[in-house]
Amino acid sequence: MTTEPPDLTTQRPNLTTERPNLLYGPEPDVAADAGHTDPPERVGFFTDTSVCIGCKACEVACKEWNAVPEDGLDLTGMSYDNTGALGASTWRHVAFIEQAKPLGGQQSQPDMRWLMASDVCKHCTHAACLDVCPTGSLLRTEFGTVVVQEDICNGCGYCVPACPYGVIEQREGDGRAWKCTLCYDRLGAGSEPACAKACPTDSIQFGPLETLRERAAERVAQLHATGVPDARLYGEDPADGVGGAGAFFLLLDEPEVYGLPPDPQVTTRDLPAMWRHAGVAAAALLTGLAAMFAGGRR
Ligand code: SF4
Ligand code: SF4
Repeated sequence: MTTEPPDLTTQRPNLTTERPNLLYGPEPDVAADAGHTDPPERVGFFTDTSVCIGCKACEVACKEWNAVPEDGLDLTGMSYDNTGALGASTWRHVAFIEQAKPLGGQQSQPDMRWLMASDVCKHCTHAACLDVCPTGSLLRTEFGTVVVQEDICNGCGYCVPACPYGVIEQREGDGRAWKCTLCYDRLGAGSEPACAKACPTDSIQFGPLETLRERAAERVAQLHATGVPDARLYGEDPADGVGGAGAFFLLLDEPEVYGLPPDPQVTTRDLPAMWRHAGVAAAALLTGLAAMFAGGRR
């Protein structure tokens, strides 16, 4: 019996109609797909940057609750942003962006506004950090969040380049990878994450992801109606390159302005095709070698 070789010229599948593997595309029940039996509703963060006042209570609450060490106390000289970026010891980062633009819906002289946004791990539906982890240190919880278990992290660092947002990082002098756990211990006790609890303006909202998506869509419509046409959601779409983020944002400008990638893609999405191609190449090589060997014996 002969087997037809696979067609290597096949185009990428249409994500809206085909679902050839679990590494990309919409995934409505991420915890069940990870093996959890009868999981609770998926939860996440909706960070509404339009009401962030830059107080950094979220950064402080995160550090206190999770015992995250200090990350350097130097001023960056970049506005009031003295944490710079997310990292092994910064699991919430409040960005301050100064712009020569008027405040939405208001007249200000001179034109000047601050955009403030509390960034965090996106707890992706398709988390490449988790896909590449060889020890199972990164795992999908029953709540649909992505957690790193530091006690079984071997410090290989594969997860670091895999993350399309540059979130996860190895800690200097320690070597293990660290990031936001969405306060897994608090969720287990029925409490909301420390940052959401501490936020005085409800810029950080925690809850069932579907409820948050509905609330976010209403908030965008409200902002549009009140003269803030640039308001948009980032990461809420289950059809995006990471299957929708578990932590999504309302932004007042392009994602790049906040240091966010405009079209993030799960970096492991093409792994099955790559392995398939490598298998076909190996099979062709073996066939060729066998033919040479057989020819040489005649
Ligand atoms: S944002 Fe990065 S670290 Fe967080 S779940 Fe997604 S891939 Fe992993
Ligand atoms: S606690 Fe809330 S208002 Fe304060 S910086 Fe964080 S997100 Fe902004």
